[in-house]
Amino acid sequence: MFNELNFDRIDLTAEPPAEEPARQYYFMAKCREWVSDFQKKNERLPKACVVNMGCQMNARDSEKLAGILEQVGYTEETDEQKADFVIYNTCTVRENANQKVYGHLGQLSRTKKKNPDMKIALCGCMMQEPEVVEKLKKSYRFVDLIFGTHNIYKFAELLYVCLQSPGRMVIDIWKDTDKIVEDLPSERKYSFKSGVNIMFGCNNFCSYCIVPYVRGRERSRDPRAIIREIERLVADGVVEVMLLGQNVNSYGKTFDSPMSFARLLQEIEKIEGLERIRFMTSHPKDLSDELIEVMGSSKKICPHLHLPMQSGSTRILEKMNRRYTKEHYLDLVEKIRRAVPGISLTTDIIVGFPGETEEDFQETLDVVRKVRFDSAFTFIYSKRTGTPAAAMPDQVPEDVVKDRFDRLLKEVQEIASEVCAVHQGTVQAVLVESVNDHDPQLMTGRLGNNLLVHFPGDESLIGKIVKVRLDECRGFYYLGEAVDMDCK
Ligand code: SF4
Repeated sequence: MFNELNFDRIDLTAEPPAEEPARQYYFMAKCREWVSDFQKKNERLPKACVVNMGCQMNARDSEKLAGILEQVGYTEETDEQKADFVIYNTCTVRENANQKVYGHLGQLSRTKKKNPDMKIALCGCMMQEPEVVEKLKKSYRFVDLIFGTHNIYKFAELLYVCLQSPGRMVIDIWKDTDKIVEDLPSERKYSFKSGVNIMFGCNNFCSYCIVPYVRGRERSRDPRAIIREIERLVADGVVEVMLLGQNVNSYGKTFDSPMSFARLLQEIEKIEGLERIRFMTSHPKDLSDELIEVMGSSKKICPHLHLPMQSGSTRILEKMNRRYTKEHYLDLVEKIRRAVPGISLTTDIIVGFPGETEEDFQETLDVVRKVRFDSAFTFIYSKRTGTPAAAMPDQVPEDVVKDRFDRLLKEVQEIASEVCAVHQGTVQAVLVESVNDHDPQLMTGRLGNNLLVHFPGDESLIGKIVKVRLDECRGFYYLGEAVDMDCK
């Protein structure tokens, strides 16, 4: 296995291997030589800061970048200003996300003037936009390395080229790829839980979304590679995995012999020592009866489904190119609740999509009232250049959208706090995640349904599943008391 490869055995006088991942391990070994020289010269190891600016997919990619930097010999630095190597893993889902990146670069340019050896790298979704790269080439010449979402597996190689090319801007952007490289190192934020990519890209082209243009077409990972990764994670202490993909419900459709997501879940369920399985995101149009049935019979799949609705109006859903109706969505909710009683349902809702009328908005409120979501992420529609929706007529005036958004938020929050209160007094299994941010006497964990719970305890509980009585509902979370410290 390459993760366990001894770097000293790589012949660095030879040409780099052509095949992956051996090629990347070769360049990691090259980078290690550079780090060793740096250490001799500066009497310290170089420091790297990975800044994640996006979604869970980006967060997982950032862990992979951090894993490679660690293998190479960099130490972790959380302050961009103090790092020798800073990499921004960018997001481009909203236009203001791009502005944030330029703001960070503006600040770092001053630091780099004082410390010309500092290296600045940019990767992620925003780099897949040609006009962004043009702007960087013209106005941000001090950036050292730019690459996109499709060749992130080549990071070690690109890092080496960058370290060997002072003063040069190294750019490598691919339009698309069908390549998936396995067995590269990766870091983990938590010792007991981990995200696991099961697929990349998206084929759906929702009319407001830039993802298919920047992350390419759907590619599913080989199930054997997924199982192998999870088995290794479990052997390393992980008890909960979050399977990640833009639309996990269409997993395996592009294989020569297609394999459904439900089948994959059944295989993952067999892994001994794994306690909890989560996944996101699910597209309603691809949520199959088979998957609902598997969720209903599973002992490990958490009773939580994030099912982005986006709008309750069939007319708007059509304009969004979501390919389901209000009725279909409600039907799915009924089926899943029948199969998994008490399941927590969460969603995403966009308010103010072009052409949305008050009647359309009332349809959204109607679904919110009928489904009674455990929580909902509500967004004001934001025009994203490069998407079909950005060119649509009838953009809704700002004050109208704001008013609808406030009404929706109020409704969503009232319902969520009522739904949360139903657990009062029950005893539930909690996976302990961390010491509470505000009170070091409290531990913070999550129920299978994703609800947050705080209770008195100590650090030794982190990563364990304990039974907690839910004493006091605080709207969106609980205060409780542990009643059983080991309930695996
Ligand atoms: S399913 Fe739609 S919203 Fe989700 S990533 Fe794909 S195109 Fe974007």
